[in-house]
Amino acid sequence: MLTTDAFIRFVEAYARRLADLQNTLNMLDNQIGDGDHGTNMARGFKVAAGHLANNPGADLGAVCNTVAMALLGNVGGASGPLYATIFMRFSALWKGQSSVHPAAISNGISSALDGLRARGKAEMGDKTMVDVWGPVNDGLREDEPTDNALITAVATATSAALETKSLIAKKGRASYLGERSVGTCDPGSISSAVFFEELVDAAVGGVERSEWHKLVS
Ligand code: ADP
Ligand code: MG
Repeated sequence: MLTTDAFIRFVEAYARRLADLQNTLNMLDNQIGDGDHGTNMARGFKVAAGHLANNPGADLGAVCNTVAMALLGNVGGASGPLYATIFMRFSALWKGQSSVHPAAISNGISSALDGLRARGKAEMGDKTMVDVWGPVNDGLREDEPTDNALITAVATATSAALETKSLIAKKGRASYLGERSVGTCDPGSISSAVFFEELVDAAVGGVERSEWHKLVS
């Protein structure tokens, strides 16, 4: 179960992870983009966590809306509006609720994926964060929505993020490189895998985090 307080702790924990991984995400983006994904994400979620600390919000709808607005206002890159879309979808679905169970979390992830695809027009295999959100959603649709299914979703997100290494980018800045984008993991897929680590840990607990900083040396 994810309460409003647990969701706020998720945003804070994700902001801390992004600060720790800022260089790693920048280096990945430097190899196939413009090198700012870590900076963008760390800045946006730091502002979001700050807003929540000052004004926690009455329910999950309000909290998610605060995060979406912080990301829209503080992240310039493609990832800002995309991550904002995720939180706007959560906000719409969880409006007025003070906690959500795995079934509602799973529905939120589905709706977020729809929003991502509508906004970014990327499909599976285009080497974007959709390559993580898609398999996570597929897995959750197949299973009963339980805590264990959420734990499995973290493993799915992790392997899907690593598998973007072999893909040719078809969307976003990395697509300018064509085949030269092969050999580097998509930075937005890695930040999405970290997102699932922290979201599921806040909801269920006991998540094992990957050592993402080892992706670049
Ligand atoms: P920018 O590309 O504007 O510099 P960031 O570096 O912050 O923005 O984010 C890049 C990430 O955004 C990519 O790694 C990818 O996962 C994601 N992304 C880019 N374009 C799209 C898109 N059209 N659909 C989904 N995700 C995308
Ligand atoms: Mg970038």
